[in-house]
Amino acid sequence: MHVLVDHPCIQHKLAIIRDIETDHKQFRELATEITKFLCYEALQNIRMKNVTVRTPMADAECRKIDTDIVVVPILRAGVGMLEGILELVPTARVGFVGLFRDEETKQPVTYYERFPRQIEGGTCIVIDPMLATGGSTVAALDLLKESGADNIVVICIVTCPEGLQVVQEAHPDVNVYTAAIDERLDERKYIVPGLGDAGDRLFGTSH
Ligand code: URA
Repeated sequence: MHVLVDHPCIQHKLAIIRDIETDHKQFRELATEITKFLCYEALQNIRMKNVTVRTPMADAECRKIDTDIVVVPILRAGVGMLEGILELVPTARVGFVGLFRDEETKQPVTYYERFPRQIEGGTCIVIDPMLATGGSTVAALDLLKESGADNIVVICIVTCPEGLQVVQEAHPDVNVYTAAIDERLDERKYIVPGLGDAGDRLFGTSH
């Protein structure tokens, strides 16, 4: 399943982050803000427990989150979404996956992997701003599941039908939350219209 979060506050920010004139400072701020909204949606059905809280007046029946949350940015662009998740869930633990694409085989190769043990039994949030071919996302999900994770959501800012299909075929149990499903991939596997190279725009390495 995928969820397109079509709220005006997200769509307004998306229009600005896509703009070629938006510099890396503003791009980073917008990535954080958009991610925070997407995360809010993605955690809608998280496990909760009932608790009784003593207020100055009386006991109140309340609910608290009852699962460890582990956020896993896919290096490098996923790091640009980390702050947005941590603003919403300051207690989240953080794992990392580093992947590059082998130019001969076109397959993702893992160069870094480190997960907190709470991926087992907890809720994992994989973050990568651009879910393009779906190759890196599927590789990250494979790694997480091999390491014991069984409750995972993916949050991206922009995706496309090809990428969504690849992820959903490989991992039908994983929900993808996104702010946009764009038209297509170009011959370089960039999303069109997309927003360009998210890593370069986040970190100011485009020019
Ligand atoms: N990665 C990006 O940064 N942008 C795209 O459009 C596709 C993959």
